[in-house]
Formats: sequence, structure tokens, C-alpha cells
Amino acid sequence: MLTLAIRYSIEPQHADEALRLSEERYALAVNGANDGIWDWDLRGGDVYYSERWHKILGFDDQLPATINTWTDRIHDDDKADFNRELEAHLAGNSSHFSHEYRIRTKSSEFIWVLSRGIAVTDHDGQCVRMAGSITDISPRKRAEEQLIHDALHDHLTGLPNRNLMIDRLGHAIERIRDSDREMHTIEFAVLFLDLDRFKNITDSLGHSIGDVLLNLIASKLGEITRPGDTVARLGGDEFAILLSDVNSLSEVTHFADRVLAECAMPVKIKSHEICTTVSIGIALGTEQYTSSHEVLRDSDLAMYWAKSEGKDCYQIFDREMHSRVVKQQRLELELRQAVEKKEFVINYQPIVSLTSKSMVGFEALIRWNHPLRGLVGPNEFISTAEETGLIVPLGWWTLLEACKQAKQWQQDFSSEQPLSISVNISGKLFNHPDMMTNLRRILRETRLPPSSLRLEITESVLLDHAEESVAKLDEMRNLGVGLHVDDFGTGYSSLSYLQKFNYDTLKIDRSFVNQMVNNNGSSAIVQSIIALGKLLHMNIIAEGVENREQLERLKKLGCPQVQGYLFSKPLDTNTATRLLASPIQYSSTYVM
Ligand code: C2E
Ligand code: MG
Ligand code: MG
Repeated sequence: MLTLAIRYSIEPQHADEALRLSEERYALAVNGANDGIWDWDLRGGDVYYSERWHKILGFDDQLPATINTWTDRIHDDDKADFNRELEAHLAGNSSHFSHEYRIRTKSSEFIWVLSRGIAVTDHDGQCVRMAGSITDISPRKRAEEQLIHDALHDHLTGLPNRNLMIDRLGHAIERIRDSDREMHTIEFAVLFLDLDRFKNITDSLGHSIGDVLLNLIASKLGEITRPGDTVARLGGDEFAILLSDVNSLSEVTHFADRVLAECAMPVKIKSHEICTTVSIGIALGTEQYTSSHEVLRDSDLAMYWAKSEGKDCYQIFDREMHSRVVKQQRLELELRQAVEKKEFVINYQPIVSLTSKSMVGFEALIRWNHPLRGLVGPNEFISTAEETGLIVPLGWWTLLEACKQAKQWQQDFSSEQPLSISVNISGKLFNHPDMMTNLRRILRETRLPPSSLRLEITESVLLDHAEESVAKLDEMRNLGVGLHVDDFGTGYSSLSYLQKFNYDTLKIDRSFVNQMVNNNGSSAIVQSIIALGKLLHMNIIAEGVENREQLERLKKLGCPQVQGYLFSKPLDTNTATRLLASPIQYSSTYVM
């Protein structure tokens, strides 16, 4: 018969009636309780386990009433803690015994339980019995584990997230500190990955395709890493890989090459074949690192560098990168302010016809009128303007200014063949949804005849969205605008592209013209571009003509138009206006 006093000592003078009521109440509570009950006679050694106690552990039948029935089932990893807590309570050091641990059930699985109990002492203060409950807390523990898992994993790919990466990196750094290897040996490496042009993919194909792509990349990365490594998704299209046990730089670069190759393999999602590449920044784990954040920061910086080196490559972090990145960030900031303050001017370089021996138009070339540095050339800021999107406001501004100026010149200096203006159009601008609307608006506002405007586009600009590009080029053409392939010969030019894209002029890149006198290869390229142009009924402009030999060669090959320092450098508006006002002085017939 069970008797459990909720007090700390037994009082023999209890009245029989009171005892009976108490026992009844207690029996009811035991049977009705969701928790299992145990009652341990510390002197005799027997333990009473209630029916519910057995049920929680999956038993229908009675188990031996010994303490080992219970303690033998406790998970090995939890035994020491359990014993410590129990002993503390029996020694009178805690008012309650309360402990969570894992216990083995009949089916040999472990479940989480909470045991609570209280010891009862006799008059001498000796513990004579201890009784309490056991509660199945597995559902709560599962929920807790899920919460912890969610807090440490990315919900889309199931990969570890930034938090877990930081944690694992912390352990890797600690291992270095504890190891006695030589200074500067590489112990681990972090690869910071960012997909190239991921935004283009989600913008054109939608977010669900983007999500599938991220999952595919996640599993590719999982396949090529070893069990001790960590692949994490840091957010968006950023991943990180911790190679936890590396011995040499070549091991790391070899792995990075593999990642580049794997990621560059086209994948098919629904009906789309998607080609993507990644840019990778690498930080090498040596004793110089004291925190995970430093490692991630440096690999991120190196990734940023890989992007600016043309993407689809890796860069290893070095200290100098820091100052270069700071410089780059300063440039971005200054450029942003310059766009707001409109600190730009356009220079105009004449384009000359060798057949009519006259100037037929200008190419508009932007310059940044920097308050301290003076005129800064586009090669120093156009790519940054592209990356930051600043090229868009800058591009609209250039287009408007150049058209306005061309119209002004046409009005002031009428000629048989109206003067044309060529404007460079960057990829971001060409692909901008407002491109056509703004182009029409600018032509309308400036009243420049569309046939006087030539848009210079490089072929690489069109490759990403070939189908849409063809449609857009057709629209431009229908508007009457001229289309020039800039830097022809340096990109992916192929005959099929030329036909597909429907250009009217090829501009031979300066690098070929530059070398044509000394280098037979370049000369042959120039010759074939001119032949190709004729075949496709396209106009040809040779860029970068600097001397008479080049000019003579080009004339011989039948090149119709030229542009270069031999005729004129790009000119500011006033000088260009003066040139138009006195063409005789300019035309330098000796040159032609
Ligand atoms: P590009 O369109 O191929 O322009 C021709 C470049 O060659 C210009 O450089 C011009 O000054 C230079 N050049 C012309 N003749 C000669 C020559 O005889 N010898 C040498 N060494 N160079 C010559 P610039 O003005 O520095 O422009 C560089 C590039 O920047 C341009 O190449 C173009 O791609 C880009 N760019 C210029 N203005 C704009 C713009 O408004 N928008 C965009 N998106 N890009 C621009
Ligand atoms: Mg150009
Ligand atoms: Mg060019």
C-alpha cells in the first residue's frame, strides 16, 4: 500500500479517517495522472512504479521493483548529471529533485523525460523514501530541437545558415589555437560564393525558378565536399564552404576550380536551360584569425574582388585587397554624388568618311569633371557605374545631352548630309525596361531626327537576353535609329549573331587597327572585317587611327569611315563647335 506524505516527516498521530481519505485521494491522483509515479523505499530498496510509469516506457507488464530498472535505462551521456542531481537532493542540497534526461524504452528507443521528486526524512533527518513523477517531454524536446535546427539552417535548401557557419568557423579557429603547428600553416579555408547574374535569372524567369536553381547549387556543393566540411547558405545567392582540414594552398585552389567548373555546368529547370557561374572569395585559415566574423569578412571582400575581376573566378584574400576595396567603395560613393551633382561633360570625337573626305558625325564620350582630379576618363568609372546601377541615370543624361547638342549643331551648321551623333549604350541601359520609352521621349523632346542618332552597343551586351535583344533592336531600327557594333572583333562576334541582330555598322576595335602595320594577324582581321561588312552591306568604322600608315592601309582595304587621334582627339563642346564652323581648317586634306 502506498503512502506518500507531502511533508518532510511522518507524523504517527494521524487519525485513521484522515489517513483513509488521504490514501483514496492519492490513489485517484495516481490513476488519473498523465505522469508516471514512482516511490522509492530507500531503506528496503524497493521502488514502486505506477502503471503509467510503465506505459511511458512502453511496457504493459510489471518490471522488477528495483532502482536499477530505472537507472539502467538512462542514456549513458545523461547518467552522470542524473546521479549528481539526485545525490545533491538526497544530501539536502536542493528542495526538489527535477531533471530532464533520455531514457530507453521497451523498443530500445530513447525518449526525453522529466523526473521530479522529493525525499522524505525521518526524525533523525535520514532520508527514508523518495517519491515523485515522470513526464514524457519528447514532444516539447522535439519542438525545441526543431526550433534550434531552424535557427541554424536555411529553410529553402536545408543547408546550415550563417549562424551555424559562424559557430563551426569558431571551432576551426579554436583548433588552430590549440594546435602546435608552425606559424602561417593553412589549417582551414573558407570559400565565399556568390552567383553571377542571379538577379537577371529571377527577373526574367521568376523566383520559383531561382529557388530551384539555389537548391541545385546547394546539392552540387554538397556532392563535392567531404563529410567534415560545412556548406552553408548565407542568404540570397550567397553560399559559403568551410574546408575544415586542408594542408596546402594548392588543395584549396584545386577545390575552388572544381566548384567553378561544377557551377558553370548548365542546368535544366522546366523548359529553361540555365547557365550560371559563381564568383568565389577565399580566406585561408591561419593563426592570424581570432573570430569567425573576420574570416567571413575577408572571404566576402575577396569575392567582391572576384566579381570586379570579371566574375566566374576566384580570388584569395590578401591584405592589400582591403585598401583596394576601400578605394573602390570611395569611388562608388563619389560617383553617386557626382551623378546627383551632374559633374559630367561630354567630349565629341569626329568620325570621318574616307569616301566623301568629310566629317560625318561625332561619337559622344563621357568624362567625369572631378572637382579635385579634373577630367576623369570613362575607363576609370564606367564599370563601377555599371555595377552600382548608376549607369542608368548617367546613360539617360548622356543620351539627352548628346541628342540636344547634335540638334543644335544641325540647326547651326546645315549640311547636305545631316551630322550624326553616336552614343555608347551600356548593357544595363539597353536592357532597362524604360529604354524604348525614354529613347522615344528624348528624340521627341530634342527633335533630333532618329536617323541622326547611332547607338553603339557591344555584342556581349546582347548575349544574355538574345531573344529580347533581337526584339528591342528591331524596335530601335523601326524607329529609324542607327545601330553600331562597338569594339567589333573583341567579343563573341559570329556571323549568325551579326545577321540575327541586324546592325548597320561595325566598328573595328582599336586594338586591331593599332597593330595592323606590325602584325600580319591583326591586318588580316581588319581585312576580313571589312570584307564581311561589304558582304552584309554594312558600314565599317575603323577606331583608333593614329598614324598615316594605318590610314593608308585602311584606305587600300576600302574602309569607308575612320575615327582616331590622327584626325582629332575627343573635343569639348566649344572646340567641336569651332571645328564645325571652320571645316576647311579642320579637314586637313593632307591627311586624307
Ligand atoms: P569606345 O566606345 O570604343 O570609344 C573609343 C575610345 O577610344 C574612346 O576612349 C576614345 O577616346 C578612344 N580613342 C579614339 N581614338 C583613339 C586613338 O586614335 N588612339 C587611342 N589610343 N584612343 C582613341 P574613351 O573616351 O576613354 O572611352 C572609353 C570607353 O568608355 C568607350 O570606348 C566606351 O566603351 C566607354 N564610354 C565612353 N563614354 C560612354 C558613355 O557615355 N556611356 C557608356 N556606356 N560608355 C561610354
Ligand atoms: Mg563607342
Ligand atoms: Mg570602341
